[in-house]
Amino acid sequence: MKQGFRVFDTHAHLGRARHSGRVATVDGMLRSMDAAGVDRTLLIPFPVVEDYRREHDLIADAMKCHPDRFAGAACLNPFVPESEFRDEVRRCRETHGFRALKFQPQYQGLNPLSQRSDFLFESALENGLVLVCHTGAGAPYALPSLFIHPARRHPDLRIVLGHAGGGLYALEAIVAATVCPNIFVELSTLTPHTVLEVLEYVGPDRLMAGSDLPESLEIEIGKILALPIPDAAKRAILWETPSRLFGE
Ligand SMILES: [Zn+2]
Repeated sequence: MKQGFRVFDTHAHLGRARHSGRVATVDGMLRSMDAAGVDRTLLIPFPVVEDYRREHDLIADAMKCHPDRFAGAACLNPFVPESEFRDEVRRCRETHGFRALKFQPQYQGLNPLSQRSDFLFESALENGLVLVCHTGAGAPYALPSLFIHPARRHPDLRIVLGHAGGGLYALEAIVAATVCPNIFVELSTLTPHTVLEVLEYVGPDRLMAGSDLPESLEIEIGKILALPIPDAAKRAILWETPSRLFGE
């Protein structure tokens, strides 16, 4: 708990990344959470991995050992056979109790506007999972506006725009969240004044904080705590909205 606020980090990667060579362990994650005053974290596999089942099982083990500290998200290559994709997403929900599915279009080049991508949105919806979509770097497939049509086609699906368009496309994230009540915005990488711009249009009941990488954790949480907004709004962004989506 930081300065009286419970804190939920909704964007952190556990495991081994093939594209960057990064390795994130459970112990390292707990250490950085404790140092930054983070109560709970949504663990997500890296977007390119050797064996996605192993990465999912690693997250499930972390959740089992520390149920109060971790929630889990699935993330896997969308170009495996469609039945394999659907089966693994179902396994993550049924066996592991995951709450989210992550799509990372920068490394998983699927066009979210194409109806060919329906299986991705359907897999999340069928399993009651929140779909967390990386936005920003990796445009055009990572443009926030491309999630407007899927959000409208699936009004019961909750979509989180990770990184809020990554600064450059933050205004698109605002537009997407403005026209779709089922679109949420995760504020990592935005400058504080851009976060305030988002808040002019999107209520704190649809906003959340995320670190992405441990070296950004202090800054990402600190920037929300330092905003000139009411404590109730900070509480919603840091805890209430994410715990509603990903469980507490
Ligand atoms: Zn990420």
